[in-house]
Amino acid sequence: MKYTKVLIRFGDLMLKGKNKRVFIERMIAAIKLNIKDLNITMDKRHDRVYLNINEVQESVVKERLNRIAGIGSYSFVVECESTLEAIKEVTVELLNQKAKPGSTIKFESKRADKNFPFTSQEISRHVAGMVLKALDGIYKVQMINPEITVYIELREDKSYVYLDSIKGMGGFPVGVAGKGLCLLSGGIDSPVASYLAMKQGIENEGIHFESTPMTSIESAQKVLDLAKKIAIFAPRHEYKVHMVPFSIIHERILTDIYEPYMITVMRRMMFRIAEKLALKRKALVLITGESVGQVASQTLDSMKTIEEVTTIPILRPLITYDKQDIVSISKIIDTYDVSIQPFEDCCTVYVPKEPATKPSGKKAAYYESFFVGYEALIDQVIEQTRTFIVTPTSTFDLTLHGFTVEEAWEAINHD
Ligand code: ATP
Ligand code: MG
Repeated sequence: MKYTKVLIRFGDLMLKGKNKRVFIERMIAAIKLNIKDLNITMDKRHDRVYLNINEVQESVVKERLNRIAGIGSYSFVVECESTLEAIKEVTVELLNQKAKPGSTIKFESKRADKNFPFTSQEISRHVAGMVLKALDGIYKVQMINPEITVYIELREDKSYVYLDSIKGMGGFPVGVAGKGLCLLSGGIDSPVASYLAMKQGIENEGIHFESTPMTSIESAQKVLDLAKKIAIFAPRHEYKVHMVPFSIIHERILTDIYEPYMITVMRRMMFRIAEKLALKRKALVLITGESVGQVASQTLDSMKTIEEVTTIPILRPLITYDKQDIVSISKIIDTYDVSIQPFEDCCTVYVPKEPATKPSGKKAAYYESFFVGYEALIDQVIEQTRTFIVTPTSTFDLTLHGFTVEEAWEAINHD
């Protein structure tokens, strides 16, 4: 016996009215997008979605469903007529095929068809009796913590029987919570932050501060490679990366700023630019991969001094995460191998020997006064920012086109 359908349950979508409709529409669009190349059709009923999986392998279906935010859980199910006899038949067959003899078992029923002459409990009892009789002595009923639970869903037209419920990604459909701008470095943390924000319904675009030719073109390519990975979770499978040509500002920081404050000032510049770009892109929040205490710039004093140059809310999904937890997620979303490629980015190209771990806003502003004209430079680099629309199958390779992102951009857009 093969499972013919998948029953998808939405997660936290216990909302009412218009919101709920929008959420469900987004969920359906996301499911459609992720199965569109497969021979699968979809039926929507009430708050459920059923997929007819035809000949598509279970593992392929799982892989697709596990990347859709908003799916609470799903089950591979067998469909049958809504009669006790039919339900018994498929249950027996299912157990014979999928269950270990000798296991403890219980039956759980749900009845959507209120006209059916039995209550849910009666359905469970009747089916259990018929099934256990047919499979004489193979399974033992146990109501608490049984090894197998047979789930029966009785509906007007058809009924469904299944043994497992698989946990989905949870969260909310991407986009229902609005849009953010994610500061995407080439590291391990920020792609995970971007993913977690998407999982909670926040669509996002990436902003990367690239310092080519001071840093290698490979380090910019790495960010696009990360974007390819997280694009799989995005609506339309598209993730925009705004590449800010940061080297003119970066160079000035290295020459004009008091060394212990270089990192603080660099990050204040990044936040100023990100806030302005967010406004332009209609993003409501910034998102970063910061986590308390990982490096000098991530002490609370430091975060305060850095973020005080902006007013836009800053979301830090990883703020309390251990590195190990972040690494685990990066492996699940398949960004880890890209992130650990050893290309330096602007934060590693020159690291002060003794960065201030408790930088003050007052001092930062004082040292910034030596960087004359940074406001104009900020506007200039925003003007020169190049946007790449990245999909999981994008083939951009900046490294084939010179030493700067700008050269690569020109070359790619002339081909
Ligand atoms: P990550 O692993 O994300 O690089 P990190 O632990 O290395 O983080 P930092 O280098 O201090 O920490 O960066 C903190 C956050 O600042 C990053 O998670 C990212 O959101 C942002 N960031 C740092 N460098 C850049 C950059 N070049 N472009 C865009 N964002 C950046
Ligand atoms: Mg980093």
